[in-house]
Amino acid sequence: MQATEKDELIEQLEATISRYWGFSKLRPLQEAAIKSVLAGEDSLVVLPTGGGKSLCYQAPAVMRGDTTVVVSPLISLMKDQVDGLRACGISAMQYNSSQTASERSAVESEILKGNVRLLFVSPERLVGTDFHRLLRQIKVSTFAIDEAHCISHWGHDFRPEYRQLRLLRDSFPGVSVHAYTATATEQVREDIIQQLGLKNPVVLVGNFDRPNLTYRVHSRRDLLKQVLEVAGRHSNEAGIVYCIRRKEVDELTATLKKNKVNAMAYHAGLTAEERSQTQEAFLSEQCDLIVATVAFGMGIDRSNVRFVLHTGMPKSLEHYQQETGRAGRDGLEAECTLLYSGSDVLLWKSIMEKSSMEQSEDTTFFDRSMDHLNEMSRYSRGAVCRHRALVEYFGQTFDGENCAACDICLGETVSVDGADTIAQKILSCVARVKAAFGAGHIISVLRGENTEGVRKWHHDQLSTFGLLKEHDKADIRDWIDQLVGQGALEHEDRLLDSGLRVPVIRLNAGSWKVMRKETSVRLLRPMRRPKGESKSRDTTNSLPLDVDEKVLFEELRALRRLIAQEKKCQPYMVFNDATLRELARVRPSGLQKMLKIHGIGQTKLQEFGDRFGTLVYDHARAHGLKLDNFSIDSAPSRSAQRQSPSPAPTQPENKMALKERKECIRKLFKDGTSIDDVMKETELSRTTCAEHLCAFIREEAPTSIHAWVDESTYDKVVAAANTVGIARLKPIYVQLAESVPYEEIRVVLEHFQTVQAKF
Ligand code: ADP
Repeated sequence: MQATEKDELIEQLEATISRYWGFSKLRPLQEAAIKSVLAGEDSLVVLPTGGGKSLCYQAPAVMRGDTTVVVSPLISLMKDQVDGLRACGISAMQYNSSQTASERSAVESEILKGNVRLLFVSPERLVGTDFHRLLRQIKVSTFAIDEAHCISHWGHDFRPEYRQLRLLRDSFPGVSVHAYTATATEQVREDIIQQLGLKNPVVLVGNFDRPNLTYRVHSRRDLLKQVLEVAGRHSNEAGIVYCIRRKEVDELTATLKKNKVNAMAYHAGLTAEERSQTQEAFLSEQCDLIVATVAFGMGIDRSNVRFVLHTGMPKSLEHYQQETGRAGRDGLEAECTLLYSGSDVLLWKSIMEKSSMEQSEDTTFFDRSMDHLNEMSRYSRGAVCRHRALVEYFGQTFDGENCAACDICLGETVSVDGADTIAQKILSCVARVKAAFGAGHIISVLRGENTEGVRKWHHDQLSTFGLLKEHDKADIRDWIDQLVGQGALEHEDRLLDSGLRVPVIRLNAGSWKVMRKETSVRLLRPMRRPKGESKSRDTTNSLPLDVDEKVLFEELRALRRLIAQEKKCQPYMVFNDATLRELARVRPSGLQKMLKIHGIGQTKLQEFGDRFGTLVYDHARAHGLKLDNFSIDSAPSRSAQRQSPSPAPTQPENKMALKERKECIRKLFKDGTSIDDVMKETELSRTTCAEHLCAFIREEAPTSIHAWVDESTYDKVVAAANTVGIARLKPIYVQLAESVPYEEIRVVLEHFQTVQAKF
């Protein structure tokens, strides 16, 4: 292709995605993936969840104007995809067993008229001969196989019916086949290529890191407290809590409800109706918290899930990646917390043994499952950056030293000094109790506790009695788990004479290496923080909205919910959170300006532009907020600094050099320029100008600030602060009957405290 032709193609593509999706540009791999579709080559595209796979086959279908057939594993998934495309003004239809015969014949007639750009079908439907006959009557140039890993039994969602897709190659020899998956292991990739018979496919593998996700792994100490802590950080935001078993789902849901947390349960033991009600409540944002087994997930397209919490270890890193991948699909920051315990491995092992016996699976399948489980266990107990560990597991390299987005790199989990000595004390205790006891008893001996078991076995006589008495029970339990993870101890199910199986801890070859100091271990414990200090940073605030913007954002969300109810569609199909945040921050003054917002294309502009635009305009006027705040003075978030598959936050236009700008603002304040005039001069938001003014006050400590806040307002704010305290601004704002803007309150408090500190 000539260079100009190429440029034209990209221009055409960009015009298409801007018009229909409201995106300003393609992500790097999308461009290559789309070109392979347009060139009629086969392809395999591996991108993490949220990486933007759908656009790779949807954009060419819209550009070419013929029909692309998309194979999708779940009917519920198809419905959402079809609705989502229609909301963007693209003709899409589904053809499956959920429809009546007359509905299907209506779809057939649209297909034959050439009116369907994207046709979603199940794998069973696609291999049927009647359907082939139908497709032969129209021009099909592309088959897109979504969730293509379902074809591989090396993967974690094997679907036998996917195997038949190979027939496509013979039945439609001239049509290119494109496979899309988020599962990245080499073996699965090769299997997909072979099973689908892809011919010299273009293989595109994206970056598996999801920089907008913050990973945390903690040992399970007090489940309810830990769940409430994470959910509490995300009140009014969507979250999924995964449990290993149905019973745990039911119990945790009931306990959360008792604690006034509105949660709904989802697992395969519920009726189809109950499940679909729960799914619907979650998608329509009527319910924000779902407690579920892995049955909940495929087809859950809610893009603003802000946290995924695992109350136990999943059975493989592939599962973990898939499940945590449901967080932050809108590209905004989200949190993934895994709570694990050594007993999770034993639980999974017994589940796998049972299933392999019931289904008389071959031993290689069981061995493979155990390998996956051990990898997962190593990750949970590991001491390296979680982003690095995940990315490397998927065969990629991780650039950079500190991800700033996991418990290890954030310093929330720290290495214990003298780990080898502690390990030796634990191991020798295991040896002294003759490897006949579980972790609980070993901990009691090491802590020098006077328990019934210790008295019964005279273990207070052992030399290891009380050797770790200064340490927490939970820490020692974690260390035992970590030593198992590092191969220096082993769990064993011991069969007693009574026929009872009990879990015991025993030594192995690795233990002796540690005892003989031939090898070192690393032990971790959670960082202890002084009381009152927040336990973690607020991950919800990665693209910080100031107080006014947050109020507007919530109003926009309410409008979105209302429109979704009216249109009987899911709220995210109207706009996703990233779009609403940008609307709240930029506040475009008119419809044309709205087109510059991520996620607003022509169709959505026509359909929703007026209502959202009016709300933004009225709110901005009522609160004295600047409109068209396109040059935002916000530091890019951490996720934006690192390469991200997600929409980057709006970057400041015509940015003055930071230092230069600071000096200029400082000078303006020194000359007594009002905040409004500084805003005009610098094009910065009121909040940012107020922040600069606060910094000026801190540094210069002027005797009076009446150039910016009049005397009576100053006195009112100080009086209100005396009544309700200065810890938070909102109570002062409310005390003053919302008559003084937040910025002024902040400036007064800054001055008041500076002056007080001086005297
Ligand atoms: P996947 O199928 O890989 O999980 P999706 O196709 O659902 O991912 O896309 C994830 C999110 O990224 C969606 O919200 C989508 O609208 C958005 N997206 C996709 N491509 C782009 C792009 N080029 N620019 C901005 N946003 C995009």
